[in-house]
Amino acid sequence: MLLRHTSKDVADRKALTINPAKTCQPIGAMYAALGIHGCLPHSHGSQGCCAYHRSALTRHYKEPISAATSSFTEGASVFGGQANLLQAINNIFTVYEPEVIAVHTTCLSETIGDDLKQIFDKAKKEGKVPEGCTLIGAPTPSYVGSHVTGFSNMVKAMAQLAEPSGKKNGKVNIIPGWVEPADMAEIKRLAALVGVSVTMFPDTSGVLDAPLTGEYTMFPDGGVTIKELKASGDAIGTLAMGEWCSADAARWLDAKCKVPCTVLDMPFGLAATDRFIDVLRTVAGVTVPDAVAVERGQLVDLISDMHQYFYGKRVALWGDPDQLISMCEFLVSLDMQPVYVVTGTPGKKFEARIREICAGKPFEVKVKAKGDMFLMHQWIKNEPVDLLMGNTYGKYIARDEDIPLLRWGFPILDRQGHQYFPTVGYKGGLRLLEKMLDLFLDRKDRDDDEQTFELVL
Ligand code: SF4
Repeated sequence: MLLRHTSKDVADRKALTINPAKTCQPIGAMYAALGIHGCLPHSHGSQGCCAYHRSALTRHYKEPISAATSSFTEGASVFGGQANLLQAINNIFTVYEPEVIAVHTTCLSETIGDDLKQIFDKAKKEGKVPEGCTLIGAPTPSYVGSHVTGFSNMVKAMAQLAEPSGKKNGKVNIIPGWVEPADMAEIKRLAALVGVSVTMFPDTSGVLDAPLTGEYTMFPDGGVTIKELKASGDAIGTLAMGEWCSADAARWLDAKCKVPCTVLDMPFGLAATDRFIDVLRTVAGVTVPDAVAVERGQLVDLISDMHQYFYGKRVALWGDPDQLISMCEFLVSLDMQPVYVVTGTPGKKFEARIREICAGKPFEVKVKAKGDMFLMHQWIKNEPVDLLMGNTYGKYIARDEDIPLLRWGFPILDRQGHQYFPTVGYKGGLRLLEKMLDLFLDRKDRDDDEQTFELVL
């Protein structure tokens, strides 16, 4: 029992987090930056921060994550990191030749008060930024928010590259939020199926799911280009998936470039995918083809065929707000019961939204923003669940309480497949159902006595 010290007595805690359900801001900024073509993320802080952020992403995506660091030592920590960053910009463009450097700050550089814009201006004035190359920067102090906040801040920095020409280009911007590379590819596939031309940013498909070819490429083919980001100001609309991950960037484009935005839930599950397709259709003024209806029908078919195994199952979920909102809605639509929902990311709006989704259902939901895994475990100890859904950190609870765990979200450190198989859209819904059913039916096969053990389920 690795978590044997978790007690059933839930005490009100304000200043103590135990086993957090989040990680630090720059990890999100680094992931978003990897979705820009030819970009080298740069961590403006100490080497330790950068090493941690890179390894967190490497362990999840199973790809080597390249990133540079300002390598703060005592001098920079006291007098500021301007000299380090200027030197770094010069070195990176000279040695690694990226098209873009995306700088995010860290706790240390934020506390000192380093001003990225001022340092960027100085770098440009001193000729350290080659012609045609770009610097972008996002503030990511980790003592506020979470990795989701850092992701959102870097995505907003991308949007701020928009240069509207005054002439609409007929494209739709899609800001997918923090989803897997396979999810981004699936969203683009669906948009293409509907006949809509899109600019997706960030776009890590083709970057963090790139094939092994025998040749190392520092900058894979994927990612949104700077040209596309500049043209995002001429789009006919923006679909932002997720209030926490994507809405700030979309609202900025709306306010500054007059690109109308719609903030949607991430398209996990039937209803959220329906809304995505409907908004896409409306914004682009197209008709949804039959091929999309076929995919939808397959998902509905599986739901109705296997409903008896989903009905009434109690689920505990943890992860990021945007993902959890759609997933709770999906589970409720299957007549499952998401009874415990925790995110480490702050935001009372999250709690209200989850309560709204579960209102009027035959169970009571316990939900906590800025919560932790310890609290989740305590709830489970008091009243168990049938399924755990979340990242790898739930495996300790799964083992101690003997509850199946469906790995989903970030980070997944001990399994494969998440970067290759989408869980968004109708096809992603099928995969989620398959994974859930496998867990429920494997458990049933394990626990059934000889009289009820069935070959055909
Ligand atoms: S919490 Fe702050 S100091 Fe720690 S790794 Fe993250 S950015 Fe660095």
